[in-house]
Amino acid sequence: MSRPDQPTADRVVIAVFDGLRPDLVTPELTPNIMRLAANGTWFRRARSVFPSVTRVATSSIAAGAPPIVHGILGNAFYHREAIPDRIFDTSDAGQIRRAEAHHDGRLLAADTFGDVLARAGKKLAVVHTGSAGSAHFINPRARANGHWTFSMHGAEATQTPEAVENAIKRLGPLPERELPRLQELAYGGRVMTDIVLPTRPDVALIWFNEPDTTFHYRGLGSPEAMAGLREADRAFGTILDWVEAQPDAERIAVIVASDHGQISTGSVEPLFETAQQAGFDLSAAKAVDGATLVATGGISGEIRLREGDPREVERIAAWLMENPAVGHVFSPDRNGVEGQVAGTLSLGLMGTGHGTRQPELMFILKSTLDADPYGLPGLGAMTPGDVPLGGGMHGGINPHELNTVLIVSDARGHRGLSQEPAGIIDIGPTVLGLLGLAPAATMMGRNLAAPPREEARVARHSGGSGAFAQHVDIVEQDGRRFILGGGH
Ligand SMILES: [Zn+2]
Repeated sequence: MSRPDQPTADRVVIAVFDGLRPDLVTPELTPNIMRLAANGTWFRRARSVFPSVTRVATSSIAAGAPPIVHGILGNAFYHREAIPDRIFDTSDAGQIRRAEAHHDGRLLAADTFGDVLARAGKKLAVVHTGSAGSAHFINPRARANGHWTFSMHGAEATQTPEAVENAIKRLGPLPERELPRLQELAYGGRVMTDIVLPTRPDVALIWFNEPDTTFHYRGLGSPEAMAGLREADRAFGTILDWVEAQPDAERIAVIVASDHGQISTGSVEPLFETAQQAGFDLSAAKAVDGATLVATGGISGEIRLREGDPREVERIAAWLMENPAVGHVFSPDRNGVEGQVAGTLSLGLMGTGHGTRQPELMFILKSTLDADPYGLPGLGAMTPGDVPLGGGMHGGINPHELNTVLIVSDARGHRGLSQEPAGIIDIGPTVLGLLGLAPAATMMGRNLAAPPREEARVARHSGGSGAFAQHVDIVEQDGRRFILGGGH
């Protein structure tokens, strides 16, 4: 993995559409993504990681590896050594600063493609319209790397506040928040075309916060979500126009990606209240109090033993496996497939079993391929939160949460649809490979601009206890794995 490929590009432009499902990439909704696809390779089976949430995915894109390598294990997770008094909210700039201070700037515990670019004397410029945390994890050492990250959340939400100050000077004040986030998408597009791209950075990345945000709060097929997606695609179109107008356009590779998909919520499952009623001393509060067990929710979540009798972990695992709403239960690795707790599958198998940060248990609520009210397949349960019933969610291993958009367009031209295994962990190695740079030693993804070395191998891994049965389907190729889906 350490030998660099021949460079096929001088510069790379990346556009990430948060939460975009590939089945919503159509000539009508996303004509500009389709324009790029007509000149590139669309990896139609591309996959996110588990848990399929934004900051875990962002970190996996940056590190070219799943959470077992980089250690960002959830949008929220209990990281006791760094932040003992509360559940770590990885979207929050202040909490990130605390955790980075604890880790001497290596909270994301692996080299990123930004780090590799910096060592090669190359520039990465990021225009981010998502949370401060997501802007952080795409290039967590941006300041030390001499790079540039603009955040739509303002100068306090990035290590390089001058990026925001400069944009405000040039383009006017940051837009007001609205749903869908139309003005932010347009503003972000202008930061790219008017400020970033003319300076010719080696790699420029824009992260659109739609369609994810409006999927969550208005529903996947809602008119508002479609308006957000169309505007994100329009802003991307202005970037693509800029690239195509360059005299050296054929030396500029373009990658379009999403970080995860989404499914619709068909039910709200008060899992933690039910556990408390069943006698478990469990807290899902943000402030960590005296409870024996602490938990995070969503479609998936973690349960950790804060203190007390370790047998409580086995007891609540058995209780989860008897709960009809629970589809999967995982614990730290025992033998590569099973977890240490009877009936569970291995967190290592899932690419999430980070040595020092993994929880005692993770769970996923059940979901199906049934159609939602808009006719889109994928319907699941979630624990109570700020997303309304019927809104979109992600975090599990439903194929429609895991399947991402991934299109690579470089000088080799149109190669159409590819059914080869691929995923978000390939983005960093592909960026580096296009520029002729070797990936970092900890990267597990591969350069998608070159052919794979091996045939893909698909395997089903099963576990269970009593009446509870669970399985995951995983494809392996070239030393990396992607979760295709699961069942119960
Ligand atoms: Zn996301």
